[in-house]
Amino acid sequence: MTSDLPAEREPGAAGLAALRPRLPSPLVELPDERFARRGVRLLLKRDDLIHPDLPGNKWRKLAPNLRAAAASGHSTLLTFGGAYSNHLRATAAAGRLLGFATVGVVRGDELADRPLNPSLARCAADGMRLLFVSRAAYRRKTEPEVLAALLAEAGGPCYVVPEGGSNAAAARGCAELGLELRGMADVVGVACGTGGTLAGLAAGLGEGQRAIGFPVLKGGFLGREIERLQTEAFGGRRGDWRLDERFHAGGYARTTPELDAFADDFTARHGLPLERLYVAKALHGLTTLAEAGEFARGTTVAAVVTGAADPAETAETAETA
Ligand SMILES: *Cc1c(COP(=O)(O)O)cnc(C)c1O
Repeated sequence: MTSDLPAEREPGAAGLAALRPRLPSPLVELPDERFARRGVRLLLKRDDLIHPDLPGNKWRKLAPNLRAAAASGHSTLLTFGGAYSNHLRATAAAGRLLGFATVGVVRGDELADRPLNPSLARCAADGMRLLFVSRAAYRRKTEPEVLAALLAEAGGPCYVVPEGGSNAAAARGCAELGLELRGMADVVGVACGTGGTLAGLAAGLGEGQRAIGFPVLKGGFLGREIERLQTEAFGGRRGDWRLDERFHAGGYARTTPELDAFADDFTARHGLPLERLYVAKALHGLTTLAEAGEFARGTTVAAVVTGAADPAETAETAETA
């Protein structure tokens, strides 16, 4: 890995700075009676405002990888995702903005014969080459033979970014999120997909601060994965964090009437549409914990808004699971 290079030696840094990310991201108080009644303050960490095309944790995770790709002389990025992956879209946009060719390996070869959904259509419009692979092959994508075949199909050397963009460089990028929140909150809540964001966030927080991750996938495997990422990025488990597995609403892109009602009500109360795959689940979790009295009076809770609402994302459900 080359992501430990000092900033002045990173060829990709100038290009990234020219995109003018809004960093540190805004931190705003949101008066909400369900928290106020318990003597708890709610803050929103608006990572969704970092960049219109690379919002939220996607900027924080991709930026160090883009620097590493440029520093190691790569002009093509190859990465992986499902048909509605925010990470694929962000990678495609980064390619367009920074002049990388991009290849997206998409789970599900049955999709190859269908019209592209709006998310994949946007990837293609940003110049991403889409390689559709069977679910069986997709599961084995990190095995050397499978990866070698994909790289051969991509037709040249590629900087490979793992699914969801989570690797050691990404976790180090997300440590910035924790650093920005030092001294600002007692508890920080964040939605988890691959866990890279929580791995970094928890490592960056200061003494006495703790993080709660709300996995949006079912499975119970994420804790080990986050420890693995922290070990790779920082040399061991870091920070005070835990997972609350109760709010995935059935799995990735699944929802329940309760979650939908929560998200609609949140938008009505605050005039803020919630990104439904992740952010709504995290805020549902935090609000439920607050109402159950799990935060002591005087606690300040920060919810990380990891992404922006997108109508294309909320339309489909079961197909992506
Ligand atoms: C990708 C994504 C996440 C998940 O981040 P991980 O680092 O994979 O846990 C959370 N929220 C939003 C909006 C995302 O797009």
